[in-house]
Amino acid sequence: MSRLDEAAVPEEGPAETAASRPSVFITHPIFRQPGFGANHPLSIMRHGAVLDLCEAMDWLSPDTLRHAPLPDRDTLERFHTPDYLDALEASARALMATPAVRERYNVGTMECPLFAGLWDRARASVGGSILAAELAMQGRLAFHPGGGTHHGRPNRAAGFCYFNDPVFAVLRFLDAGLNRVLYVDLDAHHGDGVEAAFAADERVTLASIHEEGRWPGTGGLQDRPSRRVINLPVPRHVNDDEFLLVIQELCRRRLEGLQPEAVVVTCGADALRGDPLSSMEVSNKALAAAVQVSTSLARHAVVLGGGGYNPWTTARMWAGLWAQMSGKPIPDRLPPAAQDILARLSCDLVDDDDRDPAWLSSIADSANRGAVRARIYEVIDAALPIG
Ligand SMILES: [Zn+2]
Repeated sequence: MSRLDEAAVPEEGPAETAASRPSVFITHPIFRQPGFGANHPLSIMRHGAVLDLCEAMDWLSPDTLRHAPLPDRDTLERFHTPDYLDALEASARALMATPAVRERYNVGTMECPLFAGLWDRARASVGGSILAAELAMQGRLAFHPGGGTHHGRPNRAAGFCYFNDPVFAVLRFLDAGLNRVLYVDLDAHHGDGVEAAFAADERVTLASIHEEGRWPGTGGLQDRPSRRVINLPVPRHVNDDEFLLVIQELCRRRLEGLQPEAVVVTCGADALRGDPLSSMEVSNKALAAAVQVSTSLARHAVVLGGGGYNPWTTARMWAGLWAQMSGKPIPDRLPPAAQDILARLSCDLVDDDDRDPAWLSSIADSANRGAVRARIYEVIDAALPIG
């Protein structure tokens, strides 16, 4: 038996830790449905696999499971523009976008296709994030793996994201009167949409660790619109020791001194070794440790999903993260019913030869230890100057 974060937590957090807060898992039936169309990286059945794994392991109970509400128009207009909402809703219902809509809103494109259930699915992402923040205000530690659509813009879809649900979680905390809200983005891609939403808001600090040179190309070391925007672009093939050093220095040099009242964490699983859309090579133990450290920074905490295009590593990550958040031990070898769930998954983007047999029989990765390259120290010192 083990915990995902057991070997990797770099530092003791404040006295109140995630483990002291009762956790809650947010989902919606729409997330189980196939979406995005056959040839899209998000056509994989990852959300259902997370739920099935947790159920097979007896890690979910009625009192820990909540359904995301579907927000109304007024709620969506807190961030998204009326013209975009009109265009997205009409296109989603018709399953057809005009050339003008495709051009202006990036809807109905290869990147952000139209598919059955899109409107409700996008709304459930937002509703789940608002609910997560509300539950966090009540002292729960909320996990919403259907959230994390961090590329969405007020007036445009981007990067497989139609809305931007992390923005709504942050807004909910601000609406509650909090003045120090922290956003931590651990997805392999820069959290550009959330950064743009709050770069000018003195109440919000934004930190994103992502792979250098990846889409969307923002979040470089020189991209510092203010001291509250911290971008840590790491080089390809980042290992656990490098990733955890970055987190440790981020916390030590900047975040702990902030004393944030609430934190929203986007925990995309595409930073994991084996993901087809990034070259980061972090183990799920290290990524879970980063989530634990981040959530321990504030009294109120929300953990969202995000990217994750390898269904095996993503399902194991988020199921294991839920086990960690809810204090459940993880067996070294999964029982047959749980292994069957992983065996049924498929993915065109991951070659058979690249599939680690451990992805079918276990939850916790072995750590990916390695030397810390000079570039990592350069990124830390440039992004987190002391003094
Ligand atoms: Zn990503």
